[in-house]
Amino acid sequence: MRPEILFPLFSSVSTLKGVGPRVAPLVEKLAGPIVRDVLFTPPTGLIRRAVTTVDKAVEGQVQTFVVTIDAHQPPQRVGYPWKVRAWDGTGFLTLIWFKGYGPHLERQHPKGARRAVSGKVERPDGFASELQIAHPDYLVEEARADDIPDIETVYPATHGLPSRVFRKFALEALSRAPDLPEWQDDAWRAREHLPSWREALAALHAPASEADLSPLARPRRRLAYDELLAHQLALAQRKASRRATPGPRIPAGPLAEAAERALPFKLTGAQIRALSEIRGDLASGERMSRLLQGDVGSGKTVVAMLAMADAASAGLQSALMAPTEILARQHFETIAAPLQALGLSVILLTGRDKGAARSAKLLGLADGTHHVAVGTHALFQDDVVFDSLALTIIDEQHRFGVNERRRLQDKGEGVHLLAMSATPIPRTLELTVFGDLDVSRIDEKPPGRTPVATRAVPTPRVPEIVERLRAAIAGGAQAFWICPLVSESEKVDLRAAEDRAADLATRLPNVGLVHGQMPPAEKDAVMQRFVDGEVSVLVATTVVEVGVNVPNASIMVIEHADRFGLAQLHQLRGRVGRGTRESACVLLYDPPLSEVAQQRLDILRRSDDGFEIAEKDLALRGGGDPLGLKQSGFPAYRLADPVAHRDLIAVAADDARLILARDPDLTSPRGQALRTLQELFDWKPGSPLGEAG
Ligand code: ADP
Ligand code: MG
Repeated sequence: MRPEILFPLFSSVSTLKGVGPRVAPLVEKLAGPIVRDVLFTPPTGLIRRAVTTVDKAVEGQVQTFVVTIDAHQPPQRVGYPWKVRAWDGTGFLTLIWFKGYGPHLERQHPKGARRAVSGKVERPDGFASELQIAHPDYLVEEARADDIPDIETVYPATHGLPSRVFRKFALEALSRAPDLPEWQDDAWRAREHLPSWREALAALHAPASEADLSPLARPRRRLAYDELLAHQLALAQRKASRRATPGPRIPAGPLAEAAERALPFKLTGAQIRALSEIRGDLASGERMSRLLQGDVGSGKTVVAMLAMADAASAGLQSALMAPTEILARQHFETIAAPLQALGLSVILLTGRDKGAARSAKLLGLADGTHHVAVGTHALFQDDVVFDSLALTIIDEQHRFGVNERRRLQDKGEGVHLLAMSATPIPRTLELTVFGDLDVSRIDEKPPGRTPVATRAVPTPRVPEIVERLRAAIAGGAQAFWICPLVSESEKVDLRAAEDRAADLATRLPNVGLVHGQMPPAEKDAVMQRFVDGEVSVLVATTVVEVGVNVPNASIMVIEHADRFGLAQLHQLRGRVGRGTRESACVLLYDPPLSEVAQQRLDILRRSDDGFEIAEKDLALRGGGDPLGLKQSGFPAYRLADPVAHRDLIAVAADDARLILARDPDLTSPRGQALRTLQELFDWKPGSPLGEAG
């Protein structure tokens, strides 16, 4: 239940003065549908309006003058502006308006009237002596000159809703903000010199200098911390409630031991660690919610397979779900033989299974004949029934919707969840994305991998690259050539990829093309021909098949590399360097390369550690969404900036843990205040948190 004290903030923006049916949709677009959203829209800048005289006017500045209206000059032709000449004793200033304001302007501001005018001063080309203000921000009677603020806060604006109008709404929203009971720890607040929530909001909307606009300003940090705490608290609550759910007890069993002994290699230390963390969860009697995080090729699948063998030892079923058919098939090929050698029944279930064959597989899952199911979305369809599903493993978990993952988990009682991800997320941000999961990290590559020689090459040098490719292909190598989606239009991008494929096909043998608009079966067929070595160069719009394993592919060419997040480039590069052949990654860019872009590509050339790369990219790029985090299920914060406030994330996570340890049901006075905080940000344990399970 939302506390009554918050009602004014949760009413529609149309309750704000001046927000009518025309403006309301614009406010909603800029901020959101309710008053709270306007309140939580931070200003983006400041305008200072120095009061001055025409002889001291500075071009390009926003300034205020007190003038006498001297003449109105109607447009000489259609499309010309209405001009008003004004004079302040030191010089002339021309005020101009396009569109039909003229007669109205002349009535409002007749010749001889004294006016205060404010706006951006310009001196258009060719009229060296004529100072102008186009569409003044303010034009008021001299007596009301004080209405023009010296410092004006700038808000996001859109056509039909200028910043100045939005500012009025923001200030009105502020006037509706109640004093709320303090939810932060008083001692901590005092130590950090943080204002109260209400004071912080007032300061947010009344910056006195540029420093106040910085995310590091104390009021901003206070509000950011509020938001991070609300989120972390919800994540911690969810984690706690999952823990409280019993899960089937699965002890480490003899089958996994035998499977491990039969592997042609030894597990790395990181794999052993991850496996023992998973086993700890499986044996605990509580439901597991764990993320297995590791770079492409770090060996997550083997770990997953051993966990499934443990489930089978306990007489329970498991399911491994991948986002695409080809990935599912690869997983199946990896794990089926070792598990079958132990006498287990493993099936592959995808959209291709139809009719009697499919029915037979479903029957075997329902009666418990099959121990392990590997598959795609086909696994969570309604008619798929398990006898004793106890463990679900989701590969590339962010490519599934929350509901899809849940539908699979709901096919058993207290089903354990193991999510796998190769998206490198800096440790500092991990808590925000996966705060409700326990994380195991495979931070070590299996031995014997060949490093990928990475080079940045300007696009005009493509012919050289093609020559080298020709030689490599003659020697039996295969290559990916990525033409990413970079324009607004998918059609245009698709054309670029088709053109590239056609161009390469005239110079190289066996060029194939896959793109996002192909029917899945056709896409799979081309991919399969690449896997089988029949296609030498695979041109692709994105690597749809994120984790696909083609050990013979040793060359990766990426067009427009400068437009990608480093994490993504790193993942693409991870597609090669899997076999024994020397591998290369060519990052094509359109010159000239900016300094930051240069530094970014350098990071990639020098490091092969996804987490290190992500961390450095983060530091280099600053705000925004540098890592494409939104696609990885990253929450959209309103006031917190995950980069600028990253030091606060871990603090908030600790704080949330402590709070719940002392007051699990949030019933103490502070607990109640914290509930209000969660309502305020809509971050409750049951709401979508940008989470994984
Ligand atoms: P991921 O799923 O993390 O991208 P995979 O599990 O597909 O990685 O492993 C990539 C390749 O490395 C597979 O061919 C696998 O057999 C191999 N591999 C896994 N673990 C080891 C290890 N400890 N030593 C050598 N090779 C390994
Ligand atoms: Mg994988």
